[in-house]
Amino acid sequence: MIPYGRQDISQEDINAVIEVLKSDFLTQGPQVPLFEKSVKEAVNAKHAIAVNSATSALHIACLSIGVGKGDVVWTTPITFVASANCALYCGADVDFVDIDPNTYNMSSKLLSQKLAHAKQNNLPLPKVVIPVHLCGQSCEMDKIHALSIEYGFAIIEDASHAIGGKYKENPVGNCQYSDITVFSFHPVKIVTTAEGGVATTNDAVLAKKMDLLRSHGITREESLMEEPSHGGWYYEQVDLGLNYRMTDMQAALGLSQMLRLHEFVAKRNKIASVYDDSLSNLPLKTPFQIEDSYSSFHLYVIRLKLANISLSHKEVFERLRANGIGVNLHYIPIYLHPYYKKLGFSKEQFPESNKYYQEAISIPIFHAMTFDQQKLVVQALTKII
Ligand SMILES: *Cc1c(COP(=O)(O)O)cnc(C)c1O
Repeated sequence: MIPYGRQDISQEDINAVIEVLKSDFLTQGPQVPLFEKSVKEAVNAKHAIAVNSATSALHIACLSIGVGKGDVVWTTPITFVASANCALYCGADVDFVDIDPNTYNMSSKLLSQKLAHAKQNNLPLPKVVIPVHLCGQSCEMDKIHALSIEYGFAIIEDASHAIGGKYKENPVGNCQYSDITVFSFHPVKIVTTAEGGVATTNDAVLAKKMDLLRSHGITREESLMEEPSHGGWYYEQVDLGLNYRMTDMQAALGLSQMLRLHEFVAKRNKIASVYDDSLSNLPLKTPFQIEDSYSSFHLYVIRLKLANISLSHKEVFERLRANGIGVNLHYIPIYLHPYYKKLGFSKEQFPESNKYYQEAISIPIFHAMTFDQQKLVVQALTKII
């Protein structure tokens, strides 16, 4: 089976992890700050906080902004559940904004309409909006940012797919249009630490809060303490935090992987452009790219033109799998999950997301993918549809 995504681990990556295993610190050592430095330099942000997953990063990002009971967070339905769950962890409510029919990202036009409608009807406005850069293509951050000023919400970019991508020539994660950006380092993503996440920000106060929250709310810094030190052993818990720390083994792997970030993203763009050309005559839609975006192509999503295909979406998907093509579907709209259905969401509210879910298939794209493997994918698709 040709997988839809796969990590690429070099001998240098392996050596970096082994060095940590032989060292004094398996966690809370020197590798985590070095990894954070490499991420913040790569994305041009002032601060980077490494944690054990992007899910954790989203959670402490929401907490640091003060999301809590009585607040509402808006995101897109076409994303991994973690983009919405983070609000629920904080006791807040979630709502969704339907997608743009071309980019499949949260529609900034529908966001604008939903905000105006909420304001006119005295409905709650969002405390935070979480745009998700689906497949690695940035959302229209200038427009979302302008709305955040007009309506007074904060922005957390879920850039789990988008490290190494650019928006208006600048790296995704520089937080020019947001308060915080979150990256995932799960093995299917662009760069991996096995499990891991990073939150970047230019706001020193948010950075300090996230730093506390990832480690129990405990500080050893005198400037953050509320009482005089009891002695050399002294530390204080000044907030209710969690244990979301990244280990030094993970950070060493990430630090080594980050050296190849640009190589990874360039290769993914090359694979994408070969697909764009080889699939152009088939009854499907290849990924549309806005002018302002350089995508990191975490995923390559095709949409079937079912009116011109004799098989159903499900049949095409299953035949691809039967032909050894490890396709997937990103994502099941969040409101279709039983947990969210019970919160009162229904599919009538999100027609573009429904349509997307009936047509989308993620086809294989990963760093070590060969031209021959790509040919097999194209041949199988051509034969099937
Ligand atoms: C993978 C992913 C996450 C969660 O990342 P983890 O590091 O596995 O917690 C969140 N949001 C999106 C869009 C993702 O793709």
